[in-house]
Amino acid sequence: MRDYRAWCFDLDGTVYRGESAIPEAVGLIELLRKEGRQVFYMTNNSALTPDQQAEKLGRMGIAAGPEEIMTSSITTAGYLLNEFGKQDVFMIGEDGLRQALELAGHRIVTAGGETVVIGIDRDISYAKLASACLAVSGGARFIATNGDRAFPNERGLVPGNGAFAGLIELTTGVKPTIIGKPAGHMLSEIAKIHGVKKKEMVLVGDNYETDIAAGLRFGIDTIHVDTGVTRTEDLVRYPEQPTVSVRTLGELYE
Ligand SMILES: [Mg+2]
Repeated sequence: MRDYRAWCFDLDGTVYRGESAIPEAVGLIELLRKEGRQVFYMTNNSALTPDQQAEKLGRMGIAAGPEEIMTSSITTAGYLLNEFGKQDVFMIGEDGLRQALELAGHRIVTAGGETVVIGIDRDISYAKLASACLAVSGGARFIATNGDRAFPNERGLVPGNGAFAGLIELTTGVKPTIIGKPAGHMLSEIAKIHGVKKKEMVLVGDNYETDIAAGLRFGIDTIHVDTGVTRTEDLVRYPEQPTVSVRTLGELYE
């Protein structure tokens, strides 16, 4: 199982839970590094920059370089560049999205624009949503970094980016192109940037409907781990199965 060259790990529920590392994941990642494998971390969270996300992993004792982090923001910026070239973008989002778009050479505009991109924005406002809707109604391309309708914080489930993208869709009648998992764009971006082939890659994740689905869609092997959202017992409900399912990632090296 450990022969894959490039290991693409989901984060929450796979590598950590909330603010605590999952020890078996830490053990596997350390071993993979010793064996010379490439380790990548994939997150639908568009808010953090790779530096901020790497720092968060570091605080939990998980060594990670910013070049190993693939966010839905970086994937969105790369997708736009590949498909349409440099864009004038009206964005709703935080540091991670702004930085990714600018690094890819897109221009951030304050109204109109060829493309509207929405990522999670904890300072979202009526004015921002109205500008986004007007641009989309006016013909701008509509992209959402991810479609997660809700996410857990310390208070419970709170609105996610998909909820706000849904508001724009409801207003304009235009469906967004969704970039994050379960789409395969994040994996194709890792493959392209780091020059790895599909047969050399494996995805490791806890959530069938986002992680495993993304791996299946992209066409690579997948490892389900029973430390997060999808219980091993519930995998039978799905027609397509992961390559393997483990209780903890310790099973891959004990
Ligand atoms: Mg997860």
